[in-house]
Amino acid sequence: MNPKTLHKISYGLYVICSKNGEKINGQIANALFQVTSEPPTIAVSINKQNLTHEYIKKSNFFTVSILSENTPMIFIGNFGFKSGRDIDKFKDVEYKLGKAKMPIVLDNTLACIEAKVIDKIDAGTHTIFIGKVEDAEILSEDKSMTYEYYHKVKGGFSPKTAPTYSSMVDKKTKKEEEKMNKYVCKVCGYVYDPEKGDPDGGIAPGTKFEDIPDEWVCPICGVGKEDFEKEK
Ligand code: FE
Repeated sequence: MNPKTLHKISYGLYVICSKNGEKINGQIANALFQVTSEPPTIAVSINKQNLTHEYIKKSNFFTVSILSENTPMIFIGNFGFKSGRDIDKFKDVEYKLGKAKMPIVLDNTLACIEAKVIDKIDAGTHTIFIGKVEDAEILSEDKSMTYEYYHKVKGGFSPKTAPTYSSMVDKKTKKEEEKMNKYVCKVCGYVYDPEKGDPDGGIAPGTKFEDIPDEWVCPICGVGKEDFEKEK
């Protein structure tokens, strides 16, 4: 079996929100789809370990913000790679309360849906929540973000601070200096330490950040090398 076959399935990218009493939370999900049209229902697959899962289970309600293709990585990082148990994900985010008083993220959102849970399926690590669409609204005519676009674009950035060298001597000196430099993931905060490498990701201890193959991704959140910056 080639497990990469499953990567050929297309998805979108969404922020799923819910609440528990006065506490609100949201997370990124890609596994969401329409199930029926009469009545309109949708299904979303949510990891049981996530705080949003706990909130949906309690409130039996979730909202969906359909993300635009222009959504920045840092926004996705905030909702996708951090936990509402540790931070307030809504701190610098515009949102509103929908008809059912559930939070709906508005930033980078081209359309939103409010859904009442009418059924759920235990899928091992995840629960598939089936929701009846109670309200839905289009906010802009932007293009929807697809999961493929997100991966392609995140791999498409050029390093912003690519160092240039005027001579071989400078290059060597600079490289020797950089040998000790740690690099920080701008999305999730993971620190690459060249002394330790990333043995699980196939990077041997002692490998300079510059020498890591371009295909390497952050072991925590999965972004590419271009989303790392030198530790200050
Ligand atoms: Fe990361």
